[in-house]
Amino acid sequence: MTTLESYWLETAPRFAGGAADPLPARADCVVIGGGFTGLAAARALAMAGANVVLLEAGQIACEASGRNGGQCNNGLAGDLGALAARLGMERASALYRAFDEAVDRVEAIVAEEGIACDFVRNGKLKLADKPEHGAKLARAAEVLAREVEPDLRLLSRAELASEIGSDAFYGGIVFPRSASLHMGRFAAGLAAAAARHGARLFEQAGVTALDRLGGRYRITCARGVIEADQLLLATGASMRGPFGWLRRRIVPIGSFIIATAPLGREAAARAMPGRRNCTTTRNVGNFFRLTADDRLIFGGRARFALSSPSSDLKSGEILRAGLERVFPALRDTPIDYTWGGIVDMTMDRLPRAGERNGLYFAAGFSGHGTQMSVLMGERMARVMGGDASANPLAGLDWPAIPGHVGPPWFLPIVGAYYRYQDWRH
Ligand SMILES: Cc1cc2nc3c(=O)[nH]c(=O)nc-3n(C[C@H](O)[C@H](O)[C@H](O)COP(=O)(O)OP(=O)(O)OC[C@H]3O[C@@H](n4cnc5c(N)ncnc54)[C@H](O)[C@@H]3O)c2cc1C
Repeated sequence: MTTLESYWLETAPRFAGGAADPLPARADCVVIGGGFTGLAAARALAMAGANVVLLEAGQIACEASGRNGGQCNNGLAGDLGALAARLGMERASALYRAFDEAVDRVEAIVAEEGIACDFVRNGKLKLADKPEHGAKLARAAEVLAREVEPDLRLLSRAELASEIGSDAFYGGIVFPRSASLHMGRFAAGLAAAAARHGARLFEQAGVTALDRLGGRYRITCARGVIEADQLLLATGASMRGPFGWLRRRIVPIGSFIIATAPLGREAAARAMPGRRNCTTTRNVGNFFRLTADDRLIFGGRARFALSSPSSDLKSGEILRAGLERVFPALRDTPIDYTWGGIVDMTMDRLPRAGERNGLYFAAGFSGHGTQMSVLMGERMARVMGGDASANPLAGLDWPAIPGHVGPPWFLPIVGAYYRYQDWRH
């Protein structure tokens, strides 16, 4: 019987430092959202001496930050060459390097705060799903190696044998700077660190209204009303609360994951001798890695639907078939956990952060945010402290998505389009 909950949340201690006392009447800074963006920002703001309150609608890390694939990869979500064609190579490379720095920041916080979360630089392996994707990867590797990733390794189909015990792929690229960690333990540790530095974290405090009072904000949430000089929205793919401006720019997309029972050291070494974070080249592709206790975490977009218990179960069946296609030897392995989450996707898969009418925000991490959300939380804390140059995403335009004003009715069409593209190319 599979448990319908995130492996990370089920196997980490729950953050126990949530404030039980009544909401204070005012704070210097209010952060809305208790995922990695909000937690990293709250920690940094408190360390800089601000009086900080964080408001989380559910429990700490109950959304994407506690429900992801556990990969802390460097590199952009999209193609560097395509981004350079749009923004110029200098800006595109700077954005790429921000993701490198983001992984460094996660590693540094883990060390500074002594968070036991199995952080390891195990590297990412991008795998070609089709023979023609192998050639595409080789072209991409040339640009990456020249501009930003001198240590990458391009692997032929034959060379993959030392990395992965599967015949399903046609070559790959190893990105050695990528890392992995236990996301639930990192989230609990980051929240505890923010609280230790003086931030007050309120759970079950969903925000329902924001009002501007001169230069200040009045924030209404399930725990009461609070006024703040500064406000940071760190609400990810939120479909609740007064954040219509962000919602018109972000598409919430379901992403789903299964975790097997522990495979045992030998079977794990046969399946994934390189122990890398794997991602595949299809648009509707997969991501997978081993955990410290040798489970295989296997995820993908599976269905273009939002997450719910029945949706997660149906997606779990599709993922199980995908896992068996990649690793036929694992056919009889039990699936211990099945879950889903919502990705905050932007049209170009680049996150956005900035300030609008005195309101700060960082969102749109597009399934590539376990590291960047941490960096951007910290950087937005600096921006709120007066250092506008700290925002590496400054100046990226962010128009509203035409026709996107409510629930994402167009997801099945987008899904059909991508499946057609995967079939053609
Ligand atoms: C299934 C899945 C797999 C993924 N895999 C990877 C991966 O392997 N590698 C990677 O880099 N990235 C991955 N991601 C993306 C990554 O997890 C996110 O980019 C990152 O966690 C974003 O953090 P966040 O703090 O911005 O958002 P979230 O973690 O979503 O936090 C936002 C918080 O805001 C709260 N909130 C929302 N509305 C309100 C309100 N009105 N009032 C108060 N609080 C509110 C929510 O409850 C939530 O806790 C994945 C995401 C999903 C869903």
